[in-house]
Amino acid sequence: MANLSSRITQISPGGDDGWDVFRKAQSLKAAGEPIIDLTIGEHDVRTDPSILAAMDASARGGHTGYSAIPGIEALRSKLATRIETRTGVPTTSRNIIVMPGGQASLFAAHLAVTDPGQSALFIDPYYATYPGTIRAAGAIPRRVPARPEDGFQPDARLLGQAALGAKSLLINTPNNPTGAVYTKQTLLGIAEVCHDHDLWLISDEVYDTQVWNGIHRSPRALEGMAERTLVCGSLSKSHAMTGSRLGWICGPEDAIDELFNLSTNTTYGQPGFIQDAGLFALQQGEDFEAKIAAPFKRRREIALELLAKQNRFQAIPPDGAMYIMIDIRPTGMSGEAFANALLDTHKIAVMPGESFGHSAAGHIRIAMTVADDRFAQAIKTLLSFQP
Ligand code: PLP
Repeated sequence: MANLSSRITQISPGGDDGWDVFRKAQSLKAAGEPIIDLTIGEHDVRTDPSILAAMDASARGGHTGYSAIPGIEALRSKLATRIETRTGVPTTSRNIIVMPGGQASLFAAHLAVTDPGQSALFIDPYYATYPGTIRAAGAIPRRVPARPEDGFQPDARLLGQAALGAKSLLINTPNNPTGAVYTKQTLLGIAEVCHDHDLWLISDEVYDTQVWNGIHRSPRALEGMAERTLVCGSLSKSHAMTGSRLGWICGPEDAIDELFNLSTNTTYGQPGFIQDAGLFALQQGEDFEAKIAAPFKRRREIALELLAKQNRFQAIPPDGAMYIMIDIRPTGMSGEAFANALLDTHKIAVMPGESFGHSAAGHIRIAMTVADDRFAQAIKTLLSFQP
């Protein structure tokens, strides 16, 4: 085979990526083992039948041809109104481009703001694709730790030190894997670093409808930030539409215009019937979003109640998203060793903190994505587990 580009061969550099337990759990499941899978952030319900009916009606109504490349106007307008209502920042459809999912938005956002070889900051612990996304865009990923003792809130001082010569900063609130919802103070610190070092902020807000304590604040709403922030959003988590691959970027008009050129030359737009289904989903309003989020809210309570009954393990109560991180350092084991032993002994699959970078080492991340009774049983087993 002729040589492939270093751009593509360096996306995943290989070596131990902390995902061995996950791969083992998936192959055991595929072999028919009864694994309680608490690894991946996907709802235990499928996309609502009413959304599927809207998709079906749109497709049968003929919306199966090429679609407007930045997204259909009705969906862009709906997203703009929703964002303006939620954040108070004046937003029109010209600030929105529809993308095939939040992940594609993260990639496009990095491609839009970094040149090859420039540094792009992200916070550790991090959603697993972040460094690879940055490398795929040709930039150099540079991690900045957020510490468990700070509730995994990023520290503006550390960010300021790392920002020298960087071009962008990627944040995620509510956060996967930690469940942290960034406070106003954290976001003000982030905004100051962005101003001082002329950084673009890429704000991953795919969990913005899953907040259990406090409120979701979009950093785009902070003074002077709308012109240097690209918000990446998606219907995957808010509407249980992971497979529909429907997301967006919200940002300054000039940036959206350039992203239009990127979409023209890469995806050539998203399927019209998926966009119509997304529009229908958004029209169902906040009650629908609360219904999709409710199981995670319930299970968070279940887990916190069980944790309160023992004093061996601590967790930082997640303020948002569909995960809970438990500090298993009292066992003296790494998250990876603990997760492996738990899988081997009890067929319960969780993610080692090490899968999400250095800062979550000695933790495990539990996705709250199985039915309440099975979830409660799994947490009980895990808390009394003596490896
Ligand atoms: N960002 C975060 C923090 C995530 O956890 C995920 C998915 O798990 C994504 C982005 C990507 O979501 P999607 O591409 O399904 O919109």
